[in-house]
Amino acid sequence: MNLINCLEEARLLGFDACGVAPVDTLTREKEVLLRWIEKGFHAGMGYMAKNIEKRENPALLVEGARSVIVTLTNYYTSRRQEKDVPVIARYAYGKDYHIVLKERLFRLLSVLKEKTGRDIRGRVFVDSAPVFEHEWARRAGLGWIGRNTLLVNPRLGSYCFIGVIISDFEPSGYSLPEERDFCGTCNRCVEACPTGALSSREVNANLCISYNTIERKDEIPLEIKEKMGQRFFGCDACQEVCPWNGKAVMHRVKEFLPDEWLMHMSREDWLELDEETFKSRFKDSPLSRPGLEQIKRNLSQPLLL
Ligand code: SF4
Ligand code: SF4
Repeated sequence: MNLINCLEEARLLGFDACGVAPVDTLTREKEVLLRWIEKGFHAGMGYMAKNIEKRENPALLVEGARSVIVTLTNYYTSRRQEKDVPVIARYAYGKDYHIVLKERLFRLLSVLKEKTGRDIRGRVFVDSAPVFEHEWARRAGLGWIGRNTLLVNPRLGSYCFIGVIISDFEPSGYSLPEERDFCGTCNRCVEACPTGALSSREVNANLCISYNTIERKDEIPLEIKEKMGQRFFGCDACQEVCPWNGKAVMHRVKEFLPDEWLMHMSREDWLELDEETFKSRFKDSPLSRPGLEQIKRNLSQPLLL
């Protein structure tokens, strides 16, 4: 199967962009990661310091791996929550992207098996395994890694989920890597970060509102809370200011459409919510990751509402 056919199959399944990179060993990225960990910038994400060899070498994740298929799925929406309610990052408006994307990636893998007539050995990954997704996306020609540390696609911007298939599939050609960096002299994301978490194309998770509101298990330090504004689940500040998101268009995934209730929930609604209602309402939502107790912790004073 040639590369064009593979990309067309991805498009037919609803992916907004796709590219294929040959498998390689990402030693430079591993060294950058190790320096980041040494500085303690991974905060409480101990899993970032594990399975580093697998992260460096995809052949340790999938025996005989030949290629890395990378897909982008746009999740941008101009729809915002009601004014003056606690703010959630856009990615969490609808159904959990892990569920939606894994299903699509498995379908893509099945289609490739069917069309090539080969029993392709592969695994799908969505932000839950030791994979350098951003670097693979760059190598698959899908964009560059911006100063906000996110992948920026010149057509879609940065509000995209990355889904990956590592497999022994070998197309007859590969995508061209993106060697350019279109951030230029722009520094808007760094300047817009409310906590100063970004510098030198690195994020210090200790300071990042996304980490503190979603991953952090203990109390959020007062100096972070004071800078969270109305945010209580994730943060889009370093994406909202990016000029490459100025042309972002509405996503096409019905599962990502917002839960209407969520768009109107006030601080009081959240604080009065009981565990049973939360579970039935948000069981397939990214909000289920931290859980209700942690959400209520995030909403405790001095959240500036
Ligand atoms: S998500 Fe928010 S806090 Fe984290 S780096 Fe971006 S702007 Fe800063
Ligand atoms: S805001 Fe500017 S510096 Fe930051 S990622 Fe976008 S283009 Fe790059």
